[in-house]
Amino acid sequence: MIIVLKPGATEEQINHIVEKLKGFGLQIHMSKGEERTIIGAIGDERVLANQPLEIFPGVEKVMPILQPFKLVSREFKKEDTIIEFENGIKIGGKKIHVMAGPCAIESKELLIQIAEDVKAAGASFIRGGAFKPRTSPYTFQGLGEEGLKYLSEAKKKTGLLVITEVMDPRDIELILPYTDIIQIGTRNMQNFRLLTEVGGYDKPVLLKRGLSATIKEFLMSAEYIMAKGNTKVMLCERGIRTFETYTRNTLDLSAIPVIKKLSHLPVIVDPSHGVGKWDLVAPMAKAAVAAGADGLIIEVHPNPEEAFSDGEQSLKPKAFKELMKELKEIAKAVGREL
Ligand code: PEP
Ligand code: MN
Repeated sequence: MIIVLKPGATEEQINHIVEKLKGFGLQIHMSKGEERTIIGAIGDERVLANQPLEIFPGVEKVMPILQPFKLVSREFKKEDTIIEFENGIKIGGKKIHVMAGPCAIESKELLIQIAEDVKAAGASFIRGGAFKPRTSPYTFQGLGEEGLKYLSEAKKKTGLLVITEVMDPRDIELILPYTDIIQIGTRNMQNFRLLTEVGGYDKPVLLKRGLSATIKEFLMSAEYIMAKGNTKVMLCERGIRTFETYTRNTLDLSAIPVIKKLSHLPVIVDPSHGVGKWDLVAPMAKAAVAAGADGLIIEVHPNPEEAFSDGEQSLKPKAFKELMKELKEIAKAVGREL
């Protein structure tokens, strides 16, 4: 249920409504827009069947949220969500931000070298996995905490913010001090325990779309995080599984405008995992920006042949730099900045 308040509704009126709703065991989520406040009452709405909420002082209208996802929906929050980071970086606003780096953190020297390269090209975040969700248990699984320390060093050296993946609820506390964004990987999109746990922190989360997830399922997973109080969620389209085998996955670019219509959350696109081939990354990155993405996450490695993972889809720093220049033009053409 959404309760839209009148523009001048007082704190006293708001508290009165909130207390009433809480009394019915509903969870309250407030959305304070520039013009008006919206109260989201989440739970079993049948308890409100005989409550004339419309006549409460300060209330303009009362509407059911028709979508199965509530806090994530545009119905609940009309304005785009903007997530703010240190150094004044904002994701979800006019400026498009790029996260770049190796698939996996391999060594301190290499990570710092890549961080310097992507920073010089204009990236805002260094990416790199310390805990890797590999298909085979016999391949490189990541450096663990050692890798997280290298991310912090790369941040200190370059000023880039950090994004890294958490695979297990038991690792969240370990990862938190090292990262600015918690990444939840494709294979964990429906790990509801993990979603619920990260929902309990204030740290921004990048949620990747599941390999075979519909957009509705994707948004329901984001709802799990938001329902626990963490509103700083970004949705990442990274390709889905289709019958096509030429590319690793099929990057669903239509997901960008669809999600933008259904939700207020920022959309990030990962063209690297989306196509799985380095020479297809640039065209898809450009298409993503043209289609309205708020950010990109791209794999970069100076020596893809020797990369511990995903070398075939990694851009060399020079190609990444070229791409960043081209992306600036595309961004300008669609009224954005990069
Ligand atoms: C990654 O970004 O390193 C990764 C493993 O991606 P995904 O979860 O999309 O496969
Ligand atoms: Mn990868």
